[in-house]
Amino acid sequence: MAALFKIALERIIQASQLIKVDGSILERLQIPLETTEVRLTIRMDEGSIRSFWAWRCRYDNTRGPTKGGIRFHNQVNGDEVQALAVMMTAKCAAMDLPFGGAKGGVKVDPRSLSNRELERLARGYMQIFVRGIGPDRDIPAPDVGTSEMTMAWMSDEYNAIVGKVVPAAITGKPVALGGSLGRDDATARGGYYLLQHKAAALGLSCGAKVAIQGFGNAGQHMAKLLAADGYKVVAVSDSKGAIHDPAGLDITKVLQAKKDYGHVTSIAGSDGVSEIPADELVSIDCDLLVLAALENMVHEGNAGSIKAKIILELANGPITPEADEILNRKKRVIIPDILANAGGVTVSYFEWVQNRRAERWDLEEVHARLKTTMEREADAVWAHARDKEITLRSAAYVHALLRLSEALRARGTAKFKR
Ligand code: GLU
Repeated sequence: MAALFKIALERIIQASQLIKVDGSILERLQIPLETTEVRLTIRMDEGSIRSFWAWRCRYDNTRGPTKGGIRFHNQVNGDEVQALAVMMTAKCAAMDLPFGGAKGGVKVDPRSLSNRELERLARGYMQIFVRGIGPDRDIPAPDVGTSEMTMAWMSDEYNAIVGKVVPAAITGKPVALGGSLGRDDATARGGYYLLQHKAAALGLSCGAKVAIQGFGNAGQHMAKLLAADGYKVVAVSDSKGAIHDPAGLDITKVLQAKKDYGHVTSIAGSDGVSEIPADELVSIDCDLLVLAALENMVHEGNAGSIKAKIILELANGPITPEADEILNRKKRVIIPDILANAGGVTVSYFEWVQNRRAERWDLEEVHARLKTTMEREADAVWAHARDKEITLRSAAYVHALLRLSEALRARGTAKFKR
């Protein structure tokens, strides 16, 4: 399988061939602005010291300060960080947020560390990368394996180092430290608003059957929102396994089981809930498949078994290009990551605005603004797809590229006379 960064670039290059775009934006986008790879050393609780690989990639700042989350995961590597950073560049452009793209990560299994060790890791990360971070330069946020607690430690460390309180340097903070209401479920909610807005076009109606792969922040909130709206969530999975109930799972119970025991399979066996192998989740009989786990989960080997007509990418890069091709041939509708999961960074932008203006918006205002943004950009992506007869993924990249090239053109073009 091609490296993730190459795949991400390829998607941009392909989209550029569908439109008349200034070649200089492509030339520029193939090389990250800066990627830093470091050793991050912390003291463990039992006294020894341990070193971890850590990265921050500021991919592109054509449209504004760089923006993107920090991932703590065992599989993190430099290639993945750069791929996710280029995707953030496209995502922020597609949503018309005044940001470029970035991503960071530490190669660590956060579940193997104590809370105190995690705090040292988060603070250590900030100590190393602080010179590159700031509200007008690079603004981190949570991603897989990090949370508002991680952002609280990082924000506190940033403030201590620079000697002033700068909440806008980090988003996804707890509300008590300047976080925005509605940031916690924003990734899922953005995807949910999009589905609601396009339900008729997608042929989704009340009672539609849903399977959700991944039960972290995005997957859990999506399950809650969809179940409350009358969808029937028939299967969910996490890293330990999957559960299935053709009659529809009781999401409140699944959430409680996840909270109490750490994995969804702990309620298997009760009320018609059966345990199935995690990799069977994608082939469950359903109308909508929500991918909310990690990248490359749908590949050549399992794409053909997907029965869902509609696939929503709440994770970044969950479908490989080979699987994309198989699914496109079968006329499945894929709502692509850079649009489908952009609710998270959109509310991060609202948080940054509130911090800079020293304001606090109520939840209704955050929801209303998120809904407006998701609907506006979804309509634009759908229009590109219709007019150019291309997939929604290509349309989302076309949409992003047009904005990026416009920002570059505004600085002058090769056609300027001497
Ligand atoms: N990590 C999230 C993403 O991939 C959010 C990024 C942010 O809020 O800056 O979109």
